[in-house]
Amino acid sequence: MVVGEVAESTDLLVIGGGPGGYAAALHAARHGTEVTLIEREALGGVCLNVGCIPSKSLIHAAALVSSSGSTDTGVELSATWSWDRIRAGIDDVVDGLTTGVAGLLAAAGVTVVDGTARFSRPNRVAVVAGDDVKHLEFRRCILATGSRAIHLPTIPQDDPRVVDSTGALGLKELPGSLVVIGGGYIGVELGTAYAKLGCNVTILELADRLLPEVEKRASQLVSRRLKALGATVITGSAATDLDDAGVVVDGHGAIPADVVVVAVGRRPNTDDLGLDVAGVALDDGGLVVVGPDRLATPSIAAIGDITPGPALAHKATAEAEVAVAALHGDTHAAFDPAAIPGVIFSDPEIAQVGLTPSRAAASGLEVQSFRFPFTAGSRSKTIGATDGFVELVADTGGTVVGGVLAGHGVSELVGEIALAIELAATVEDVAATIRPHPTFSEAITEAALGLDGRPLHVRR
Ligand code: FAD
Repeated sequence: MVVGEVAESTDLLVIGGGPGGYAAALHAARHGTEVTLIEREALGGVCLNVGCIPSKSLIHAAALVSSSGSTDTGVELSATWSWDRIRAGIDDVVDGLTTGVAGLLAAAGVTVVDGTARFSRPNRVAVVAGDDVKHLEFRRCILATGSRAIHLPTIPQDDPRVVDSTGALGLKELPGSLVVIGGGYIGVELGTAYAKLGCNVTILELADRLLPEVEKRASQLVSRRLKALGATVITGSAATDLDDAGVVVDGHGAIPADVVVVAVGRRPNTDDLGLDVAGVALDDGGLVVVGPDRLATPSIAAIGDITPGPALAHKATAEAEVAVAALHGDTHAAFDPAAIPGVIFSDPEIAQVGLTPSRAAASGLEVQSFRFPFTAGSRSKTIGATDGFVELVADTGGTVVGGVLAGHGVSELVGEIALAIELAATVEDVAATIRPHPTFSEAITEAALGLDGRPLHVRR
């Protein structure tokens, strides 16, 4: 300790103001606890500022632009748009939501401190903001510092053409050509949006197909659509260099690129926090080792992208309440969801929850599934969105254990299957639930009927 160093104190310290951290601060304030939240960049974290929200706004704008030529309904549309106006629209959405978070925190009495926190003692952090250093002592603490993009050693990060997902969401000009390295969900979402805005897009993926994390049938729909949009998809190849001609790809030469988006994964922000001082252990991947209650030590919890499990905003938010409960003495607090849905806002959208057929096969579990195609659905026909399906998965006893969905708006449907899994509903329960007609949700009924041996709008 520096002689004369004076520390302010707080009861609960939250480090990181993303969907994990700000939700934790709000829950803790509800307990009547005095809370201080430290954020080094912007309230709302990656999700609101440079992740979920701007990317989905961009995807929506790009979808509007690309649907302008649709003649499916006999209606011809033409879009008037400019990149500057789309960017301004995205900024407005982000500003609205982050201002909302700041307002909620203020109303809850949470003290927000700007700066970067680092542990200097087991119960103390130094918070650096410019030349200013502040010391804060806490009784309990929640770590919610999130993650950052991984860089590729073969692609020089300081080349002005190279950006990560954050850079790709903040481009000042629309590029003529854009190469996305990484065909996971972030790369596919960004690549699709820019292809729809008229850029010449190439997506490179090391695995033998795009979106290797989802069922093959679903990822094939996305590849097909990308090709129809004029994008090039190269799989099974690595980017080995970036030269004047573009991104050098094994077996494909140099692919021209005004912008190169590196989207090959993310790593947890745990390496520069002084966690050893606090007695917080990390696993080999740099994730915080936590118990089911999210406690890393008796007084420090960790949530969100820095803990094991899918790096998704809703997982961070759900863990927040558990961590707060554990730090307030609830010995039953546990993060134990039956399933966490994951959505890819590709075209068409893909959503998976619980056990998918291939996850079950990989775990040696016996499941049964039935896939209802949107080509047989009525609502899908009325809006000309027949690409996709709902596949419901059940265990051998008939309890719903998972789902795979692809198609228009399935991001809004998957929650229904998550609820069924959480409530241990049977296939019969799901089939007996009456859904409105004509809607995409009827596909869930149809898949359940099929799984129950009573298919209705598809042949046996
Ligand atoms: P973060 O949101 O990363 O917040 C952590 C915060 O901690 C940051 O604001 C950071 O500045 C701050 N911080 C870090 N270290 C310190 C420190 N030492 N001191 C002070 N502050 C610090 N997820 C979804 O569920 N749906 C999506 O559609 C989706 N789309 C995405 C699209 C993109 C392009 C990206 C990059 C991510 C996307 N994600 C999506 C993932 C989602 O953004 C993350 O899972 C989520 O933000 C994790 O929340 P978090 O609270 O753990 O961390």
